Amino acid sequence: MFKRFISYYGPEKGLFIADTVCALTYAGIDLAFPIILRALTGGLFTEGAAAIMDGLLFLGLGLVGLYIVRTACIYFVSAQGHIMGARMESRMREDLFDQYERFSFAYFDAHNSGDMMSRVVNDLFDICEGAHHLPEWIIICGIKIIGALAILFTISPELAGALTLVTVVFVALMVRQNLHMRSVFADNRAKISEVNSQLQDSLAGMRVVKSFANEETERAKFRVANDRYLDSKVAQYKVMGSYQATSAVMTAMHYITIVLFGGYLVAQGQMTAVDMATFALYISLFTGPIETLVNSTEMFQKAIAGFRRMDEVLATAPDVQDKPGARALEVTEGAIEYRDVCFSYEQGEAAEAGAEVHPVIDHMNLSIKPGETIALVGPSGGGKSTTCALLPRFYDIASGSITIDGQDVRDVTQHSLRSAIGLVQQDVYLFDGTLRDNIAYGRPGATNAEIEDAARKANIHDFIASLPEGYDTVVGERGSRLSGGQKQRVAIARVFLKDPAILILDEATSALDNESEEAVQESLERLAADRTTIIIAHRLSTIKNADEIATVERGRVVERGTHEELLARGGTYARYYRMQFEGARARDVR
Ligand code: ADP
Repeated sequence: MFKRFISYYGPEKGLFIADTVCALTYAGIDLAFPIILRALTGGLFTEGAAAIMDGLLFLGLGLVGLYIVRTACIYFVSAQGHIMGARMESRMREDLFDQYERFSFAYFDAHNSGDMMSRVVNDLFDICEGAHHLPEWIIICGIKIIGALAILFTISPELAGALTLVTVVFVALMVRQNLHMRSVFADNRAKISEVNSQLQDSLAGMRVVKSFANEETERAKFRVANDRYLDSKVAQYKVMGSYQATSAVMTAMHYITIVLFGGYLVAQGQMTAVDMATFALYISLFTGPIETLVNSTEMFQKAIAGFRRMDEVLATAPDVQDKPGARALEVTEGAIEYRDVCFSYEQGEAAEAGAEVHPVIDHMNLSIKPGETIALVGPSGGGKSTTCALLPRFYDIASGSITIDGQDVRDVTQHSLRSAIGLVQQDVYLFDGTLRDNIAYGRPGATNAEIEDAARKANIHDFIASLPEGYDTVVGERGSRLSGGQKQRVAIARVFLKDPAILILDEATSALDNESEEAVQESLERLAADRTTIIIAHRLSTIKNADEIATVERGRVVERGTHEELLARGGTYARYYRMQFEGARARDVR
């Protein structure tokens, strides 16, 4: 984890070195200041008036020069240091986002989007505050402490020794408190992430919340998460408070030691009064940086808590990956073959963690001829959607093989595989942009003419043209300004533009009313022509149009044939058909 953290400094080497040099110079100047004062009080002021004036002029010019350099250094450390931190933060954010994009569906099934947002937004800020402040503080404070100690020891080893002892005792105490602080900050991160998750969930589901008039329930759930975060914050501030208090007691003990033990040494003639005054000056140079260092551990702990959460994501190997040297899929005809495929959602990480494994796809065999339209039917939960999700490798199978034109889907690049497959689902996701952008999502860079052509084929062009802003109409978040049927047709236009060789229609029309279904159905048929198509259908009309029907039950294909063949066989499909579709047909006829 540490190595990964350090690697983010790599591209900032130049800035980091310049920042370090400025921090060193600034610390050196601060350290020189009391020496100059000591020379003034102890040496220069004992000379005659003319010598003092000469000395003062020289000293004054020197001081102005030093302060100009010091100011420039402070500006550089503050501005450029923060800029360096911001750049590191930006790179970390990109890396985290890239990593999220590499994960398969299994990761998103298991992780909450509010938590993921929290890692990208909240945690990184803490990391980067630490990334640029910590090194500069360690340098500035380290030098000040070592320099001050060296000078203090030359003035009075006894008093310097006593002060060091006091410091060691208190620092040891604070290190102990620090360990506690780490767990408090980790808890804090987890709790803010819960707030984000709850917020995300409630806001995304606000339409459902309102339709059930469940605002009060949501508010209560949100309050629970919010109160937990508050409790965690309270615990955090208590720990921080006692930490600061310990640090304040240490400073007080330093001054008390100087006054009492220093006074004793002066009385004993082991130290002069000027030396004791110099000590009082230097001690702030000593205690100030110690306090800063001690306080910086708080920042350090926050940064560690944040980085740990980021590292957890970066260190997770995506479970679906391109093989080294994977080649692009070449679709020649579009033949699909599932051979003895087994799959369960609990395989891999979840199974290792001891989860019980329920096979969802159980030794499935299914071959689909080029250009054929095959309908998957069967009881809900039988594994139809899962069968479809395995083809574009949204999940990897446990055993067996899935091939497209003889190429195993695990041997080709995910990009080429998914470019060859078009997917229309019941739940359409539109991005909050214009209709044009949403259709063009199917093929970024498509021309307006191509977009319109796709919209025509999807039976949505006339509707779009009738809108005052036409293709520039903004659809709202998740396409909230469109009806279900319109959204579905935009999704179909997208796939027309993508022009894939293989098509998966996962209950694409099951949520639509009869009228919308008709318009969508027509465009779907146009889309499916000449493409190998798998349809998961709940509607009789869709199934009847398929070349073949496969009944999927408990993760296997139990029957296969045309509608008439399967009815004549009187097996599972016939039973299922009577149960499921005769009622539907009665409704359709009505
Ligand atoms: P169908 O499409 O035939 O209704 P599915 O393929 O959706 O069936 O589901 C098959 C089984 O897998 C069901 O028992 C379902 O609960 C389970 N399942 C589906 N998706 C997931 C998932 N993302 N994580 C865990 N289990 C799942």
